[in-house]
Amino acid sequence: MRIRVLGCSGGIGGGLRTTALLVDEDILIDAGTGVGDLSLESLARIDHIFVSHSHLDHVASIPFLVDTVCWMRGSPIVVYGIKETLDILRAHLFNWKLWPDFTQIPDAEHPFMVYREIRVGETVELGARRFTAIPANHTVPAVGYALDSGRAALIYSGDTWVNDGLWHAVNTTPHLKYLIIETAFPDKEHEIAAASKHLCPRVLAQELGKMRATPEVYITHLKPGEGALTMKEVSEAAGRWRPRMLENNQEFSL
Ligand SMILES: [Zn+2]
Ligand SMILES: [Zn+2]
Repeated sequence: MRIRVLGCSGGIGGGLRTTALLVDEDILIDAGTGVGDLSLESLARIDHIFVSHSHLDHVASIPFLVDTVCWMRGSPIVVYGIKETLDILRAHLFNWKLWPDFTQIPDAEHPFMVYREIRVGETVELGARRFTAIPANHTVPAVGYALDSGRAALIYSGDTWVNDGLWHAVNTTPHLKYLIIETAFPDKEHEIAAASKHLCPRVLAQELGKMRATPEVYITHLKPGEGALTMKEVSEAAGRWRPRMLENNQEFSL
């Protein structure tokens, strides 16, 4: 299982892209603006999209992706998410106003896109690859995902604040090799972080204190313009876990 980072920023500008991970050639974990860097052929190979939550920085490329490749494909793109997330996408994005409802195009029997509801704790198996929704604590209903190849596992926190459910997953996932966890704000914006249910470095450090496993730790969702400051604070507050900044185009293999 190969995982490539297509976007790992809290925003755009310069080389920055919002959150998306490409798994092998056919799966996305979130579909932020980084998806737009893929070639047309690569876009057409995406069969499955696991959505962490409905915020635009995580779903912005789904409408364009479906619209761009639908004529090149023989099967629908499957969008996975918890019920609350899919309900928001139905009501507020693919609602014929902001974008057409591609679950009805060209017709409901042969659509270009389908929704597949998953529950927190549920695992979707795609060949030997396993994707489990894990709890997140954010301003809208949200999950993270655990990815497991059978040999090794990676956990992606999604957008989250203080979250004991994440640490339960981290501490009980066998052969956990990587943890990708958000830290969206520097400590001076602690109150904004708490209100928007994102982590800042000192809360990250408190959270990492709950970890019993020893994965490599990568920090994602840094706010544009404040990434260097936030990573400096992360190193000071949480240095014992040796967290590194997640980089665009970085690859992991499981
Ligand atoms: Zn969010
Ligand atoms: Zn986000």
